[in-house]
Amino acid sequence: MSKLTHKDVLRADQFSKSEIALIVEIAREYEQALAAGRVLEVMKGQVLSTLFYEPSTRTRLSFEAAMLRLGGSVISVAEAKSSSAAKGESLYDTMKTVEGYADVIVLRHPQIGAAAEAAAATYRPVLNAGDGAGQHPTQSLLDYYTIEKERGTVEGLIVTLAGDLKHGRTVHSLAELLSSYDVRFVFASPAALRMPVDIVARLKARGVSITETESLADAIRTSDVLYMTRIQRERFEDPAEYDRLKDAYVLTRSMLAGAKDGLTVMHPLPRVNEIAIDVDDYAGAAYFRQAANGLAIRMALLALVTGRA
Ligand code: ASP
Repeated sequence: MSKLTHKDVLRADQFSKSEIALIVEIAREYEQALAAGRVLEVMKGQVLSTLFYEPSTRTRLSFEAAMLRLGGSVISVAEAKSSSAAKGESLYDTMKTVEGYADVIVLRHPQIGAAAEAAAATYRPVLNAGDGAGQHPTQSLLDYYTIEKERGTVEGLIVTLAGDLKHGRTVHSLAELLSSYDVRFVFASPAALRMPVDIVARLKARGVSITETESLADAIRTSDVLYMTRIQRERFEDPAEYDRLKDAYVLTRSMLAGAKDGLTVMHPLPRVNEIAIDVDDYAGAAYFRQAANGLAIRMALLALVTGRA
């Protein structure tokens, strides 16, 4: 039993450094076991329910693959309109129902706070796979794991979060998670898409160094890690505003000429236009490795919250 047994995973700032180290250690073990061709049965007899009320490719598939790789089973609702949510069922009632079928629940929902509401409704562990423009804690754990694998450590790095910092839940979670470490941040965004003031205030109160800029080029010159994000079209009330901002930052290979040696380029994906294809064979382009890292991290999380790790 670890401190994570029977715990929900709702926000990135819920984790202590020792919990993050434990998750990474277990993820690494599972990754090595899979690479060695071992068949794992850690979750044998357990059922995961994935409820995705917003689109997803990586998060849903990697959670489901994680459960299957651990010998467990998966039942899935892949879109709200195919579930009773479309008939007006409350999240509370859905959770009270799903807890009768599954041992652990992964939820993606368009409303901020939905995962916490779901967790309060059920005694089963709930993992937040994205609550609107709120948080995406499992993504930030795999982002942390990726930086550690690519760079050896996160300590001492200058990390630029770039793009839609207002609506991007991945950057909200990652900023909170990395703020426990010796990391300096650059927040690069158009003025209309700045990191929410409450998050900036919280980080500053913890003594974290933050530089805000609108210039991606300036940010590239000083960064060790450049974390690009998509402009979150679905969060805009005014389509004209989205059109105005959608191509604010497009990273091309030539822009990397002024970068520090060994710059790591990340992106939670999906990319729309933010990273040109010619960046893909840049040695530091880590975004597909980053996506792959989601499998082991989610295996570790499922095993830990169910007390099986
Ligand atoms: N896949 C990530 C998320 O669900 C990033 C994105 O959609 O832009 O938040």
